[in-house]
Amino acid sequence: MVVRTRFAPSPTGFLHIGGARTALFAWAFARHHEGTFILRIEDTDIERSTPEAVQAILDGMRWLGLDADEGPFYQMQRMPRYREVIAKMLAEGTAYRCWCTKEELEAMRAEQETLGLKPRYDGRWRPERGRELPAPPPGVDPVVRFRNPLDGATAWNDTIKGPIAFDNAELDDLIIARSDGTPTYNFCVVVDDWDMAITHVLRGDDHVNNTPRQINILRALGAPVPEYGHLPMIHGPDGQKLSKRHGAVSVMQYDEDGYLPEAVVNYLARLGWSHGDEEIFSREQFVAWFDGSHVSRSPSRFDFDKLRWLNAHYLKGSDDADLAVRVLPRLAASGIVPTPGEADPAVVCGLLKERAQTLNELADLAHLFYAEPSISAEDRAKHLDPAPPALAPALADFATRLADGDWTKEAIAAALKATLAAHGLKMPQLAIPVRLKVFGTTQTPSVDAVLAAMPREVVLARLKLR
Ligand code: GLU
Repeated sequence: MVVRTRFAPSPTGFLHIGGARTALFAWAFARHHEGTFILRIEDTDIERSTPEAVQAILDGMRWLGLDADEGPFYQMQRMPRYREVIAKMLAEGTAYRCWCTKEELEAMRAEQETLGLKPRYDGRWRPERGRELPAPPPGVDPVVRFRNPLDGATAWNDTIKGPIAFDNAELDDLIIARSDGTPTYNFCVVVDDWDMAITHVLRGDDHVNNTPRQINILRALGAPVPEYGHLPMIHGPDGQKLSKRHGAVSVMQYDEDGYLPEAVVNYLARLGWSHGDEEIFSREQFVAWFDGSHVSRSPSRFDFDKLRWLNAHYLKGSDDADLAVRVLPRLAASGIVPTPGEADPAVVCGLLKERAQTLNELADLAHLFYAEPSISAEDRAKHLDPAPPALAPALADFATRLADGDWTKEAIAAALKATLAAHGLKMPQLAIPVRLKVFGTTQTPSVDAVLAAMPREVVLARLKLR
């Protein structure tokens, strides 16, 4: 069997972290089985669907690297097909027209409520053998209802939750086409899963209640029933439903906040799934492991500290030049555009990447190399003013030694060592004032490395300044 999975978001908002996890699992499952992954945009809710949300989904999928083999398909472009299937069901008697007016339905509901019954459609237009239906009332456009089985149960073995069954008596006859002829949500999903030959549906467990209805319609159509796996929710760190407040924001917000897609993918993979104690693994490794098993049945909690920790790991392991490409736009956003005469951004990223957890933090740290140094009054008083008498001659000597020769970390380290020996100073007695003068701060990686990353003329000019 060729595995075919799909991700079927409704474009009514951004692609949030829960949707991204569903997409990742459906994608990885298809890749694991060398199957096909399909992207389907469920845009039939025209009131709430927006082109911006469609774009946000496409952007998010691209950023995460979840490439679709087929699609995106848009449900709004498939209307003729849905109408065709509705006509077929009417002809075959698996669906029927219902002329109940809104008022009648309201009266039905009110009566059921007074009798303490669960409100449901009472089947008054459902054709039954030997039952005479009234003549359709004039001036009412009928809806089309699915003729749900009346008894028995609809059951499936959920690949995540295990066996689930619903009594058919609980399911009333679902409207599959509104009175204006437009098909309804559950119906479109069924026709699409059928036409797209989906073998495995992985989706959020808010859809568990839809599944028996969808299975019954598939059976009525003579269509194969896919396997279903319903993913538990993602909760916030406080155990509450994940919300904006927790960062249930667009996946693109994570890009903006300086997370690497590889870190987010690794993080999402571990959110409700595990492979032994493995915490850090590549996308390829995840695909090799993810066969749909070991998905947790209980909700998972979003843990920002862990995401930051993973991000720091991936930052550290990133290629310096790749990091520079990702950091440059963030520097530009704060008005810094490194020129060829300034520190090489790739070298800067290499020096700082162990000290940052996000690209934004890395960009902030990189300011060190591009901004004019400004020494705080506190640092000045502590380290420079008044300076120990040996400092001024030592700084001058150091500057002289730096004026010629190689401009490398090693050459600078040698000049530093020679200056310390000549003036009887210890490393911090010189390194701290040097850092302050060149960078305006005492907090930098190793002094020889950071000086080597700066242009020689800039270092010399700053060392000579007071
Ligand atoms: N469009 C649905 C949603 O965004 C998903 C439907 C499905 O996966 O079957 O929740």
